[in-house]
Amino acid sequence: MAEQKIPYKIYLSEDEIPKQWYNVRADMKTKPAPLLNPATLEPMTFDDLRPVFCDELVKQELDDDTAYIDIPLDIQDFYRMYRPAPLVRAYCLEKKLQTPAKIYYKFEGNNTSGSHKLNSAIAQAYYAKKQGLKGVTTETGAGQWGTALSMACSYFDLDCKVYMVKVSYEQKPFRREVMRTYGASVTPSPSDTTNVGRQILERYPGTTGSLGCAISEAVEVATTNEGYRYVLGSVLNQVLLHQSVIGLETKAAMDKYNITPDIIIGCAGGGSNLGGLISPFMGEKLRGEKNYDIIAVEPASCPSFTRGKYAYDFCDTGMVCPLAKMYTLGSGFIPSANHAGGLRFHGMSSTLSQLYHDGYMRAVSVEQTSVFEAAEQFARVEGILPAPESSHAIRVAIDEALKCKETGEEKTILFGLTGTGYFDLVAYQKFNDGEMSDYIPTDEELQKSFDSLPKVDK
Ligand SMILES: *Cc1c(COP(=O)(O)O)cnc(C)c1O
Repeated sequence: MAEQKIPYKIYLSEDEIPKQWYNVRADMKTKPAPLLNPATLEPMTFDDLRPVFCDELVKQELDDDTAYIDIPLDIQDFYRMYRPAPLVRAYCLEKKLQTPAKIYYKFEGNNTSGSHKLNSAIAQAYYAKKQGLKGVTTETGAGQWGTALSMACSYFDLDCKVYMVKVSYEQKPFRREVMRTYGASVTPSPSDTTNVGRQILERYPGTTGSLGCAISEAVEVATTNEGYRYVLGSVLNQVLLHQSVIGLETKAAMDKYNITPDIIIGCAGGGSNLGGLISPFMGEKLRGEKNYDIIAVEPASCPSFTRGKYAYDFCDTGMVCPLAKMYTLGSGFIPSANHAGGLRFHGMSSTLSQLYHDGYMRAVSVEQTSVFEAAEQFARVEGILPAPESSHAIRVAIDEALKCKETGEEKTILFGLTGTGYFDLVAYQKFNDGEMSDYIPTDEELQKSFDSLPKVDK
């Protein structure tokens, strides 16, 4: 009967948008391994990182102890434009699946960038502006991060230079135009505008690029141009911190109706949406207050958690970035070109890697066609065309709900619906035409990439 009262959408009021981010590292007994200087193999210090990132963001990156960090008022104002994001009870999907499970999703697609990435983009642009910088550089794969960052930069009147993985630049002209409309300059990567880009082009002529390669170019431009810094849309601790707004809102909405999730599911590319969604729940788990079954979902074509090694590795192909200890497929790993969407990074957030390593969460990998089957099923009853990335989480949420149907368990399932798929219609077209394939790398291919991991004894 209490159940009848739960609406389809649980909205918070604007006043209930979080005023602080939550830093899950503060509650971790084993802290994530530090970034290492690739030359000395010593932990990166504030001064080492300052030439690359904004000062305030370096502080956040290195802060393993402060549990709550105030969200500056300018960022709170910007959040009010598109937050709070709704928490939706998927009644229609439950009915369709005939499951006794209760399914909820947090929808982050209600802004032009179409994903959660704006939550961190606006924070990173704010700190760059506050430091008096001219602009920022970044890479983008599928295009969501570049779009989010161009929106954030235009809000604060900052220059924004985006290196876009060439295959996406060509396949997603509409994303490119959104970025240009917000004033960003977009360069296909690898390009001849940087040293590292020219080297990569010489070594791999005709390459369609990779995220690791675009990162190297963006970092080079930031560190060789006065008044510029580099920003990254995922993987880093600071990004997980900003994305905690997702989880804090979700928890506040659930608490209103005394809902406690049994299972929490998110897709994992670099780990930022999952890290953000689970943060307050993981905090409770780390403090021994509650237990949750937390599941990271990754593509079988780029399986960092489920088949990767927990080791120090480069974050980029050009090997200019610090080394991060993470579950990785090796920085030379280039996922198959027929893989759709943004979950293509070879590594994983070092915070989530440590939590996974310590057994606080589990991971599953899913194949592309089954992901699109779930996306179609979801779109037809819940009315939102999901991003392919988000649909990885939908796949596993549906699988868990179907298990409940067999066992009769009334589990409460929460998943992150990170974005919309309006710019992914080429992938949907392939699926609709029955031309989508499930590429899974062989052990030999992965081994080849593992062989190039840097030898670091830490
Ligand atoms: C970028 C992106 C992801 C994956 O990135 P994470 O850092 O792992 O969250 C997932 N969904 C959407 C819609 C994205 O744009």
